[in-house]
Formats: sequence, structure tokens, C-alpha cells
Amino acid sequence: MNIGIVGLGLIGGSIGLDLRSRGCDVFGVSSRQQTCDRAQARGVVNDASIHLSLMAAADVVFICTPLGSIEPIVRDLVPHLSPNTIVTDVGSVKTPIVQAVSSLWPNFVGGHPMAGTAESGIDAAVPDLFVGRPYVLTPQPQTPAAAVDRVEEIARLLGASVYRCSPLDHDRAVAWISHLPLVASATLVAAGVREGDRDIVNLAQHLASSGFRDTSRVGGGNPELGVMVAKYNREELLRSLSIYRDCLDEFISDIAAENWQALEHKLKLTQQARQNYKL
Ligand code: NAP
Repeated sequence: MNIGIVGLGLIGGSIGLDLRSRGCDVFGVSSRQQTCDRAQARGVVNDASIHLSLMAAADVVFICTPLGSIEPIVRDLVPHLSPNTIVTDVGSVKTPIVQAVSSLWPNFVGGHPMAGTAESGIDAAVPDLFVGRPYVLTPQPQTPAAAVDRVEEIARLLGASVYRCSPLDHDRAVAWISHLPLVASATLVAAGVREGDRDIVNLAQHLASSGFRDTSRVGGGNPELGVMVAKYNREELLRSLSIYRDCLDEFISDIAAENWQALEHKLKLTQQARQNYKL
């Protein structure tokens, strides 16, 4: 199978590494020549170019660029594709992407591998990033079934567990488990920076350990990705943030009122609720 990847960064590069090692021929396009050279040197691709014409030989093309460039890229890509080519993307938000791209290319399957690191760019690409992780496909009723099955087959080849849902349900669900945590984590780091005593800040930075590492990780990642997610999933993110603020206010009230019983009850509920997430 010939795989095309547009956007040789963390996700695109990691897909390339794995699919090559599993017997596919992988062709990559990225905006900078130095990224193409690095991708070839790292064995991510058989061949790479800054020109979309390289995608002409691909059976399936993965668009792995930032959210804002997915639609314009597909627009430029279409003249190079044969009618049977399947196009899929890995964008972290689905509704606006699926709506825009499906009208440009009917053989399009929206996708989102639920895996990542705090790094970005071709040097951040790692093997086996998707093994054991969820990979969501968001077909529409009119999406060709054969195209969905083919992308699912590739996601399984990457070692992922495949889920199918509507783009809307995807965006509402990931607001809770990905986009809200990103903002909560970023604001946690931002709040600590506001401590006015330099010596305390310095001490805190030295004492920070696993708890801070876990809770600050997603807020300390790629800023461009955070902005794109907020822009493209704005409504669902705002909805989850508003409910989050209510929860935070309730915790603040309990602590301010020294209502330790109420606080313990809440923490028991969150301890139980966390166990329901398939982490
Ligand atoms: P990334 O590491 O920054 O990689 C994106 C790459 O795309 C860049 O390295 C850039 O390469 C290339 N690029 C940018 N604009 C381009 C264009 N117009 N044409 C061709 N190549 C272009 O970002 P990422 O984290 O892999 O994210 C990529 C996509 O995956 C996003 O849509 C994101 O929502 C999604 N996603 C991310 C994560 C995560 O945790 N990071 C998880 C799941 C899904 P050059 O060096 O050539 O400019």
C-alpha cells in the first residue's frame, strides 16, 4: 500500500515511521525542504518533497498539518489525486474539518489518533506512538464504507483501538478529556507564575515533582496546537470551561467555609469517577 503524508511533524512523522516498518511505502510532503531531508534521514519516508504532486501515487493520504491548513491543503491536493484515493486527516477537532473537506473530496474520512507528546516537529516523531491508544473515525452517512474500512485497517496496523462516532459527538467528548484539561493545565502553570515572592517561586520550581509534572504536562505543550483547538472547538470548550468554573467555585466555597466533610465527599466522588476513564 502506498501511503501519502502531508505534514511531517510529531503525528505525521510517527505515522510514517510505523507504516514503513509495517511494510508500506510512505511518501511525505512538508512545507520546508529541511523537514523533508530530515524525514528521509530518519527513515520516516521513502521519498519526500515540498510539492503536493508527490501524492499522486498514494492510495491513502493522511493530512497531518495544523488544523488551520487542512482545508487549504486538500483544495490544492485535489488536482493531483485519482478518484479512488482516500484522504483522511488527524486533526484534533472534527466538525468544521469534516464539513469543509467532505465537500472538496467525497472519499474523505475524518480521523483523530488520541496520542501525542509535548514535543512537535519531525524530530519529535517516535515509533509505536499509537499502540494501545484510541483512534477515532468520524464518518458521515454519505462517506463511502470502503474508505472508512480502509482507514480503520491502517489505524489497526498502527496498533490503535478504533472508535467510530459523529464529528459532533467527537468534539463534545474530546472537549472534556483533552481540550478542557489543556486549558486547566495551562492556567495551573499560569497561576503559579503569579506568586509575587521570587524566593517562593524559586523554591517551588526546585520542589516540583511527579504531581506537578502530571498536571502541567498538557498545558506546557505546543502553543499553536492549543490555540487551534480553542479556535476550532470554541463552543464545546467554552461549555466545558463554564461547568469547570462552577466546580472550581464549589471547591473554593467548601475550603473557605472549612467544610471538610463536603470536600471529602467531593474528592471521594472524583476518585470513583476517575476509575471510569479507560486510561
Ligand atoms: P507538528 O509536530 O507541528 O507537525 C505539523 C507539521 O506540518 C510541521 O512540522 C510542518 O512541517 C508541517 N506543515 C505545516 N504547515 C504545512 C503545510 N501548509 N504544508 C505541508 N506541511 C505543513 O504538529 P502535530 O502535533 O503533529 O499536529 C499535527 C496535527 O495532528 C494537528 O492537526 C493536530 O490537531 C493533530 N493532533 C495532534 C496531537 C498532539 O498531541 N500533538 C494529537 C493528535 C492529533 P515543516 O517543518 O515542513 O513546516
